[in-house]
Amino acid sequence: MENAPTDLYLRASGILRKFYGYTNFRPMQYQIIEHVMNGGDAVVLMPTGGGKSICYQIPALLLRGKCTIVVSPLLSLMKDQVDALLSMGIPAAAVNSQQSENQNREIIENAYKGIIKLIYISPERLLTEVNEWSLAGRIGLIAIDEAHCISQWGHDFRPEYTQLTTLKRLYPDIPVMALTATADRLTRDDIKKQLNIPDAKMFITSFDRPNISLNVQSEISGRKKVNMIAGFIERHAGQSGIIYCTARKSTEALASKLKGLGINAEAFHAGLPTDTKIDIQQRFINDDVQVICATIAFGMGIDKSNVRWVIHNNMPKNIEGYYQEIGRAGRDGLRADALMFYSYGDVVTLMSFAKDSGQSVVNMEKLRRMQQYAESTVCRRRILLSYFNERYEHDCGNCDVCNNPPERFDATILAQMALSAIMRTGEQAGMISIIDILRGSKKAELIAAGWDKLKTHGVGHDLSFATWSNYMLQMLQLGLFDIAYQEGNHLKVTNYGRDVLFNGIKVLLAKYEYGKRLSKTKEKTNNEVRSEMNASLLSQLKDLRRAIAKAQGVFPYIVFSDKVLHVIATEKPTTRIQFGTLYGVGERKTELYWRQFTSLIKKWNDEHNRPSLDF
Ligand code: ADP
Ligand code: ZN
Repeated sequence: MENAPTDLYLRASGILRKFYGYTNFRPMQYQIIEHVMNGGDAVVLMPTGGGKSICYQIPALLLRGKCTIVVSPLLSLMKDQVDALLSMGIPAAAVNSQQSENQNREIIENAYKGIIKLIYISPERLLTEVNEWSLAGRIGLIAIDEAHCISQWGHDFRPEYTQLTTLKRLYPDIPVMALTATADRLTRDDIKKQLNIPDAKMFITSFDRPNISLNVQSEISGRKKVNMIAGFIERHAGQSGIIYCTARKSTEALASKLKGLGINAEAFHAGLPTDTKIDIQQRFINDDVQVICATIAFGMGIDKSNVRWVIHNNMPKNIEGYYQEIGRAGRDGLRADALMFYSYGDVVTLMSFAKDSGQSVVNMEKLRRMQQYAESTVCRRRILLSYFNERYEHDCGNCDVCNNPPERFDATILAQMALSAIMRTGEQAGMISIIDILRGSKKAELIAAGWDKLKTHGVGHDLSFATWSNYMLQMLQLGLFDIAYQEGNHLKVTNYGRDVLFNGIKVLLAKYEYGKRLSKTKEKTNNEVRSEMNASLLSQLKDLRRAIAKAQGVFPYIVFSDKVLHVIATEKPTTRIQFGTLYGVGERKTELYWRQFTSLIKKWNDEHNRPSLDF
């Protein structure tokens, strides 16, 4: 795209190489950096593991003599990020209530002097602290992490975030970058509105996480479920995983059953003493506990990149939460598995919660979409991505529906009928009205709206209401249209839908037969995970990483991610230069670790070359 690289590009990619050890930006990262460096506001949507942090960390290093503030909702998240930055040689610190006021003061003074480049802070402290500095023009950028917390439409609303609404009014000249991994269109627009950044540019990368295999298992309960889970864990020997449960007591019951079967499992929920929680988290991150049975309290702020699988013991209450939870698996990009158990009993329980919640209409609708996902006959990844308004037109080949597809037929004409009916109502009708129109109903409200006069009125009279409902649902899941919750649940045709209507793109639907098909979980063999490289070398590298981490008092992944260890095991560097040019190895880490890692490899080479010389 660009011709000669600009000066900014050269400086930004120099930092990427020097501190992070990466050679290329991921999609959008550089565009985002450039945009805020030119003073623009930005809303950044990337999936978990997509690489959001770099988008504000590199500007922080580029902005000479200024400090970048990062608003973050959780202390554990802040600590994690600060540790990671320090390990790369980037000066950063957190201001929070766990340190003395003197310590906090000192940090702020150091930021003022330009010694600290990034400060992590909670939303409630931001406005009191930011005050004096911004006047002195010391702040170059404000990044708001987990920005969906500001929206009541989101699934994780935090009242303390609402304080941020005044930020832009008070400091119009400081660029604001809002970042999140979960936001449907409604939440997305609300983030802009709440932060008062109407002109912010939206940067949305694909939410696809193709390495996570998606599976749903219906109507299994009790002992049979426990046995299935135990069998699953057995097939994933030595791999870390999380089992999400709805209630505190079920985390404990399940953990104790698994322990009884000889599985290294622990329960985790918000009701445990803080010390216990910290201890369990640490042991999980250090690979000393293999399985955590947890409520949704577990996971936010845990940046463990080698979680290999996530099981949902029950259906979650909405797709945003589900996607975030399964997103904790496979952050290193290697194969990971998501398995969700679903029963109609889950729906009944969740419905009563949703009805009692403050936002019952929205929550019921979100629950319905979750249930539709669970019962789907459409590729599950297509459903998830269209839910996040992403156009994704092929089957993924890595979900249980794709592995076990139902019989499909060419439904292009049916889809065109439905889409045309939606358009002809001026996109002012809900699902039921559209079906009524298609079936030629003479209901009073249809006549009152004049919809009995539409050209599409009655074109689909030969299909039953149930059949149309099923097909409409599949079309929604494929992303042909969308439901506008904030506008009376009216249906809106997407660009993809327009292409079907006007450009004849073909649509395949699963044949509807009365009585649902139950999806069968079929697991792929795991040989993709076992690459050719030598497992014994990898485990020695992990031991070395663990020893270094223990000595430094940080988590192993702060030293190197699993992915980097895999690269080391494959490339087997034996010199400083070879080591220093590997993926994920920046200058500081080269200097700190090259001796230990290359000498381990030399030793390993010696031990393993000898037998081959015996021929
Ligand atoms: P997010 O905050 O979006 O969940 P992170 O910022 O933690 O994601 O990044 C996830 C992982 O991807 C980290 O290990 C990070 O170092 C890595 N990463 C980010 N950008 C790049 C890049 N350009 N090249 C290679 N790895 C990257
Ligand atoms: Zn699929």
